[in-house]
Amino acid sequence: MDFDVAVIGSGLVGASFARAARGLSVALVGAEPHAAPPAARPDAFDARIYAISPGSAAFLRDLKVWPLLPRERLTPVHAMRIYGDDGRSLLEFDAYRTGVAELAWIVEDRLLHEALWRALEARDHLEHFAPAECEALEVSERAASLRLRDGRSLNARLVVGADGAHSFVRRAAGIAAREAAYGQTAVVANFACERPHGNVAYQWFGGGPVLALLPLPGNHVSMVWSRSDADAARLLGLDPAALSREVAEASRHALGALSLVTPPRGFALRRLDTPRLVAPRIALIGDAAHVVHPLAGQGANLGFQDARELADVLVRREPGRDPGDLRLLRRYARARAEPVLAMGATVHGLYRLFDSRSELLARSRNAGLNLTNRLPLLKTMLARQAIG
Ligand SMILES: Cc1cc2nc3c(=O)[nH]c(=O)nc-3n(C[C@H](O)[C@H](O)[C@H](O)COP(=O)(O)OP(=O)(O)OC[C@H]3O[C@@H](n4cnc5c(N)ncnc54)[C@H](O)[C@@H]3O)c2cc1C
Repeated sequence: MDFDVAVIGSGLVGASFARAARGLSVALVGAEPHAAPPAARPDAFDARIYAISPGSAAFLRDLKVWPLLPRERLTPVHAMRIYGDDGRSLLEFDAYRTGVAELAWIVEDRLLHEALWRALEARDHLEHFAPAECEALEVSERAASLRLRDGRSLNARLVVGADGAHSFVRRAAGIAAREAAYGQTAVVANFACERPHGNVAYQWFGGGPVLALLPLPGNHVSMVWSRSDADAARLLGLDPAALSREVAEASRHALGALSLVTPPRGFALRRLDTPRLVAPRIALIGDAAHVVHPLAGQGANLGFQDARELADVLVRREPGRDPGDLRLLRRYARARAEPVLAMGATVHGLYRLFDSRSELLARSRNAGLNLTNRLPLLKTMLARQAIG
């Protein structure tokens, strides 16, 4: 079994890359079964949602994935309100003033996966190994050989590691990662809200904890609340009414009373970056290459941009050029180095700034929010960067 490319990991990023790598024969190896299990109730919201930037939405549109998402489950974000931890400072973004139709789209994980799977079914020269796990990788001058846990083996000229934060490909290729736990867990859950959200995404920095309420269809919102591991464990143990009350309180009743509609789940938060995105016959994309705090909702967006860039480099390569050639892969690494570094530093810097106990920093971070709010040009620049 010989392929141009073997993609290890069929999460959002690996699946989107497999779809984008036109003209190449692709083996997609994914630990999850071929199709996502059907939802217990089709109208129930998924606990995991993503804020998808307009740039990522355009990429998914090019891949013919976006039109497969049910329109009634896509929620545009028209404005953002970000509050500091003094109860007064506020930074607001507005799609109209930024010159775009929407700042982001809120999309459920299960629906996005389903749309990607369906789009992949229409792709030629793709073999999907699922459920299958890659457990051995050897790189030689002419090809990479892979062995799957079920005993099958395959060869590819390029191996794309899209296998998430604990990437097997990254370790097998000897690419070191710098990793650290934030000591925080993100608690996610969905609520019905008393007041209409008006397609506004809310965020409250609480001097450590960060609470986001993102708009879902109708009068519903999706919460991502990053708390210390101990606080998160307590929240996850609360009964629905107590959790709803606590979230309404922390959000200063901006949306009135809340009532839980999707049980909470917790995700331990880590930071990870790698000094190299490529090695001979290897390229890393998505969380395999970088993991950022979810406070800016940018992890999957960064991964989609990796997938788009790597696919572009491969599709545009000179005729007959080996897709695993390190000099070719370095084009991808060079193009992604700055955006990945900038996003990692911004997100981590914001986290550190609001996590600090220093009085002086607390005053300046809140003043900074207010000041940025009064500088329309800077605001537009920041918003445009996040839009991608
Ligand atoms: C609480 C929370 C909220 C978030 N919100 C947002 C948001 O609003 N917007 C945003 O852009 N990002 C967000 N993110 C980040 C986003 O979830 C991740 O960046 C994104 O899911 C990474 O996708 P991936 O495909 O790279 O990795 P993963 O989703 O981790 O997928 C990796 C896949 O590889 C498979 N795999 C692993 N090892 C092997 C192997 N050996 N063989 C075969 N398969 C293997 C795994 O089973 C998995 O399916 C959030 C993250 C968290 C924790």
